[in-house]
Amino acid sequence: KDFRNDVKPNWCPGCGDFSVQAAIQRAAANVGLQPENLAVVSGIGCSGRISGYINSYGFHGIHGRSLPIAQGVKMANRDLTVIASGGDGDGFAIGMGHTIHAIRRNIDVTYIVMDNQIYGLTKGQTSPRSAAGFKTKSTPAGSIEQAISPMEMALTVGATFVAQSFSTDLKDLTALIEAGINHKGFSLINVFSPCVTYNKVNTYDWFKENLTKLSDIEGYDPHNREAAMQTLMKHKGLVTGLIYQNTEQKSYQELVHGYKETPLTQADLELDQNYFDKLVAEFM
Ligand code: SF4
Repeated sequence: KDFRNDVKPNWCPGCGDFSVQAAIQRAAANVGLQPENLAVVSGIGCSGRISGYINSYGFHGIHGRSLPIAQGVKMANRDLTVIASGGDGDGFAIGMGHTIHAIRRNIDVTYIVMDNQIYGLTKGQTSPRSAAGFKTKSTPAGSIEQAISPMEMALTVGATFVAQSFSTDLKDLTALIEAGINHKGFSLINVFSPCVTYNKVNTYDWFKENLTKLSDIEGYDPHNREAAMQTLMKHKGLVTGLIYQNTEQKSYQELVHGYKETPLTQADLELDQNYFDKLVAEFM
């Protein structure tokens, strides 16, 4: 049950991604997985390295494409727990199309975004999560674009599990990842994971001052989508906790035509070949 390996992360000391790594390792152990039951797929960016730092199956993919790979892994072997991961640039810029369609598809994958509101690996440029006015070497006069709101976006396109956390809240983050893994459908967990080297605005102290825990909002109901949207708008997206969950909607795997209990990776390929031969003969 030990999800640690011998690879030493080369993140900067203090990077928020260390806690995300620890939370994934703890959550996987807490839900009773073994390393051979878990696949971690990542994109490109500082956070993309995470797939190499966890003792499980790992796939370090290409920029913005962790979700297509993760969905392929899940479709081929639904017995695996599949975690996709990456940064805000990876998932909400080049990968945004995949993010939206994986959400509405409701495929049983947990997607963890390490949101530091900057491109760290390429040494500090404005990302889709940088606020308007944010100054970097790519926007020396301040960004003239508005930041994207990923939680609101997820609710709008039909997400069934939306959560947000802060990397220092290790206990809460671990619990949310466990809930995401146990959710039968797509779970999106956005984690504020400060880049201590290049983002001097959205620091640990800034998040501590500006974040509101949903558990501190009296009567907050994560099963009420409209209330979730209103709360996000009121707090400008700066909330942590389980924002919304819908347990009624079936996952993609449950709805897919020809669903079989046996994962493709364990299917009798000879039988399947006969099946495909018959199909081809039908259309000849
Ligand atoms: Fe983390 Fe930023 Fe360093 Fe990248 S550059 S490892 S995001 S602190």
